[in-house]
Amino acid sequence: MLNYNNQGNWPNGFGKMQSPIDLSIDEQNQYKEFLPISVDEFYQLNNEIDDGTTIRLTGMGNATVFNREFNFKQIHFHTPAEHTVNGEAAPFEIHLVHQNAIGQTVVVALLVQIGNADASLQEIINNFVPNEETDVSINLTEWIPNLANGFHYAGSLTTPPLTENVEWIVITNSPMTVSQNQVDWFVKQFGNNNRQCQAINNRKIEYYENK
Ligand SMILES: [Zn+2]
Repeated sequence: MLNYNNQGNWPNGFGKMQSPIDLSIDEQNQYKEFLPISVDEFYQLNNEIDDGTTIRLTGMGNATVFNREFNFKQIHFHTPAEHTVNGEAAPFEIHLVHQNAIGQTVVVALLVQIGNADASLQEIINNFVPNEETDVSINLTEWIPNLANGFHYAGSLTTPPLTENVEWIVITNSPMTVSQNQVDWFVKQFGNNNRQCQAINNRKIEYYENK
C-alpha cells in the first residue's frame, strides 16, 4: 500500500511538472471569466472500490472542458486537500478523472470546505465495504458547479506512477460541502492521504474568476 509518511521513497523518475502544487493568483494569467467547464451528461457511479488509500468509484458521464469533450472515468478523495491555495489546505479534495478520445487526461479537483454533510458522499460512505469492490448506483448531479472559479495548469498524477501531461482544473468555489464527521470518517479509514506540494518550476498557472 502507498505510504504517505514516506513519500521520498515513492517510485520516481519525476519530471518538472508534478502535482499537487501551492496555487496563488498570478496577475499576468488572470481571466475575468468562469472556468470553461460544463457537465453535459451527469455522472453515474456504478462501482465502488477500497483501493487501500482511498475510495475510488468508476462510472459514466461527459464534460466539456476548454471546448473539448471528455468522458468521466473515476472519482476518489483526499484528506486533507492536496492542492493548497496561498499555503492553506482545505480539509477535503475530490478528484474527478476524465479522459478524451485521444488519451488526454483532465482531473477536475474540488477543494471542499466544512459545512452541511453531502448526501451523495454519505451514500458512498454507507456503501463502503473494506477490502471489497461493490456495485452502487449513485448520481452526481451537483458536485461540479456550473459557474466555476479556479485554477488551470499542467501537472501530473499525484500517486505513482506520477505520470505527467495531466491537465488540472482546481475549482475553488465548490458549493458542495462535507461535514466534519464525514472528513473524520475518511481520516479514520485511510489516514491522511495527501501528497506534498511539488515545485512549480516554470509553469504557467491560470486563474479564472468571473467578477
Ligand atoms: Zn487524487
